[in-house]
Amino acid sequence: MDSGLIGAIEAGGTKFILALARQDGEIVARTRVPTQTPAETFPAMAAFFGQGRQDYGPIAGFGVASFGPIDIDPASPAYGTFTTTPKPGWSGARFHDALGRFDAPIVVDTDVNGAALGEWAQGAGQGCTTLAYTTVGTGIGTGVVRDGRSLMGFSHYESGHIIPPHDSAADPFAGSCPYHGGCLEGLASGPAIERRWGRSLDQLADEPGAVELIAGYVAHLAATLVLLHMPDRLIFGGGVMKAPGLIEEVRRQTAAKLAGYVKHPRLDEGLERYIVHPGLGDDAGITGAIALGRQAIASP
Ligand code: ZN
Repeated sequence: MDSGLIGAIEAGGTKFILALARQDGEIVARTRVPTQTPAETFPAMAAFFGQGRQDYGPIAGFGVASFGPIDIDPASPAYGTFTTTPKPGWSGARFHDALGRFDAPIVVDTDVNGAALGEWAQGAGQGCTTLAYTTVGTGIGTGVVRDGRSLMGFSHYESGHIIPPHDSAADPFAGSCPYHGGCLEGLASGPAIERRWGRSLDQLADEPGAVELIAGYVAHLAATLVLLHMPDRLIFGGGVMKAPGLIEEVRRQTAAKLAGYVKHPRLDEGLERYIVHPGLGDDAGITGAIALGRQAIASP
């Protein structure tokens, strides 16, 4: 079980975090490289793991938690390939091409699913059977983990594009999603908040109703996740969720939307133990990537 190292990659829109870890999770080498084009970033990534292999021994499997959209269906011929990303040069790029020379199995999942898995294994989702992790930041997305595996359909979930009720008298902003206008991401992501008010939510304490408005959209998602997945816990992370008072208001409005319909000991009075911040902070993604690498080794 402990022979061979895990190559872990958290591929973000601005940087790749790379780690070489033992199978118990101990990181022996770690670095970051800027996300430029695949022609620049992929060789830098391969060079790090090539050096790591020299210094620490063979790599038995890779785990990738990546920005997207990306094909995460292991049965697909394009598994691990970026699809329609607007990021120049990345559509069609494939992790398997960049890591092929290591001759090791690769598991690829989304960055959000990776963070969900990390939180499930070592963060605020420990002890949960089913966990829903949502990031509310540059975008909005949810990963649902059950028994250590992220759930998907024919592709990864896109909770950020659920369209919530939108009272245009209370919120005249039409929304910023190029596809839907007023979907959750178009109304409540960091860029949507900046576009509506010219400031981030943590600077809007003097704007009456701002926190309550955004909380209403996030609570719509929270209540939807409860009804669809009945998770043991909801984690809400990402830059927007750091705004003072937001998570408290999300708890309040989620409880109001559920209106007492779902009763279970997991849903505590006030939802303070049910709707929580992440436990791992910035390490959730790389922790999840290591867990994915473990899966690659267990079932290549
Ligand atoms: Zn949308």
